[in-house]
Amino acid sequence: MKCYCGKIAYINLSDGKVEAKEIPEEYLVNFLGGSGLAARLIFDLVDPTADPLSPENALVFMTGPLTGTIMPTGARMTVAAKSPLTRGWGEAHAGGFWGTELKRAGYDGIVVTGRSEKPVYIYIHDGEVEIRDASKLWGLDTYEADIELKKLIGENVRCAIIGPAGENLVSIAGVFFDVRPDGPRVAGRCGMGAVMGSKNLKAIAVKGSGKVEVENLPSLREYLKRILPSIMSFPTTQLYSTYGTTAEVGPMYTYGDLPIKNFSMGTWDEVRNLEGEEVAKRIVKGHRACFNCPIGCWRYVDCEVDGEKVVGRAIEYESIGALGSLLLISDPAKVAKLHQLCNKLGVDAISTAVVVAWFIEAYEKGLINNERLGGIRPKWGDHKLVEELIMKIAKREGIGELLARGVREASKEVKGSESFAMHSKGLEIPMHDPRAFKGMG
Ligand code: SF4
Repeated sequence: MKCYCGKIAYINLSDGKVEAKEIPEEYLVNFLGGSGLAARLIFDLVDPTADPLSPENALVFMTGPLTGTIMPTGARMTVAAKSPLTRGWGEAHAGGFWGTELKRAGYDGIVVTGRSEKPVYIYIHDGEVEIRDASKLWGLDTYEADIELKKLIGENVRCAIIGPAGENLVSIAGVFFDVRPDGPRVAGRCGMGAVMGSKNLKAIAVKGSGKVEVENLPSLREYLKRILPSIMSFPTTQLYSTYGTTAEVGPMYTYGDLPIKNFSMGTWDEVRNLEGEEVAKRIVKGHRACFNCPIGCWRYVDCEVDGEKVVGRAIEYESIGALGSLLLISDPAKVAKLHQLCNKLGVDAISTAVVVAWFIEAYEKGLINNERLGGIRPKWGDHKLVEELIMKIAKREGIGELLARGVREASKEVKGSESFAMHSKGLEIPMHDPRAFKGMG
């Protein structure tokens, strides 16, 4: 069936066995897209009682039929596994180029099982799969690891990487794609970075020279010629092309959807500093697009905060809500700095901000034992405090050991704090107040 390579690489890191297996046609027909296929494979492979961080869990990277084709926004792909946060189904998504490159290298997806004795990375190139030593990469942040991998393999390789947080099995760690120069694209949710770390897998590098075939290219081209003008002239598309998802900050605030101060406030005048136009004016330097996407909502920043350069992927609606309004930080450059730190150390910005917001509120309410604080005096709007906490979370150091477990588990240890631990079945709530859009909670 065209649009697919028809093959998945099964890699067992316990014994180093690699197998390329065909995807049953029935699966391609009945389980659509990266998430659908990943769900079916995990259903087949993982015992429901398996510990998410054990070798028995399977970590699946899966593209969909449109990944790598000329369909606009088709670049996205899925990372899935049993989640250490929810202990149930976990999936996260990323755009960029990695999924397309994987298909060009001959695979629709990768299933990683087992656990390597030593840190490794996987290198996939034109059908070949190699498991390589990653001892020199272990401990590096995602930016450093991307640089080193490119020195080892070549600048044109595409990498999926975990940071120190994933290595340290932080439950809110993510997987980071296309990190430099203007990324990363992030599969942040559900602790997929911790599952990758539990397998001693630092990175998956891919390089391919193949093509993604479609059933009837001329007719697809004709179809796109007809629909593209409508897509591109649609007002939301135009806003996304200009401001990215930050275009949503103002409207979502008006709906009461943008969470403020750990979901406890309804209005906050300083939100104006975080709206799309303001962010663009103050810190955004340019636009990028995922593979073959005409919209190009992906922007990058170049600014300086506290004498430090902040360069790379711009803040989006979610990171502004999380590291901005949720924590009452209204300077977009400071939010961008925190976002970059999350990306470097390998934690999900949403979950990190939710657990930090819970921590500040618990402290304010006098629920956190002073001995636990290690000299920290939490307060709202303090980006330096958040910076310190992100580092502690990634290293599981001091109070970071508690926060690294995610907000549900952390709140179980602090009596009286569960009522303001904002999660749904263990996964920290994204930046949509359920009182505005009930389906999002
Ligand atoms: S650039 Fe934006 S709109 Fe285009 S595929 Fe990437 S995330 Fe989607």
